[in-house]
Amino acid sequence: MFLIGGVTPKMKVLDNTPRRCPVCGLHQAYYKRVDHYFNLFFIPIVRVKKGEPFIMCERCEKAVNEFDAEDRSGRLDVAPSTCPHCGKTLDESFRYCPYCGKPSSS
Ligand SMILES: [Zn+2]
Ligand SMILES: [Zn+2]
Repeated sequence: MFLIGGVTPKMKVLDNTPRRCPVCGLHQAYYKRVDHYFNLFFIPIVRVKKGEPFIMCERCEKAVNEFDAEDRSGRLDVAPSTCPHCGKTLDESFRYCPYCGKPSSS
């Protein structure tokens, strides 16, 4: 019996909203995932492996991993400020650090 089958990757777009590609700077990066399907006669029958989501830029045609770092730096903006001298977390209203007594803004 001759069976035409196998496992092939299948690209899936998770989010159609274009994101900014940190490599080329254009909003042409999309959230994608590659799932592996078991195919029988070229028809995907069952998903055998769920892929990890990644960002793929249409222009650069490569996966971009810097988005995690970008998310983290974005979160830092809303995080409480820290003393540039001793590194302790400060309330934004503090003009002087209560820990080391130095001005909290440089
Ligand atoms: Zn790009
Ligand atoms: Zn301090």
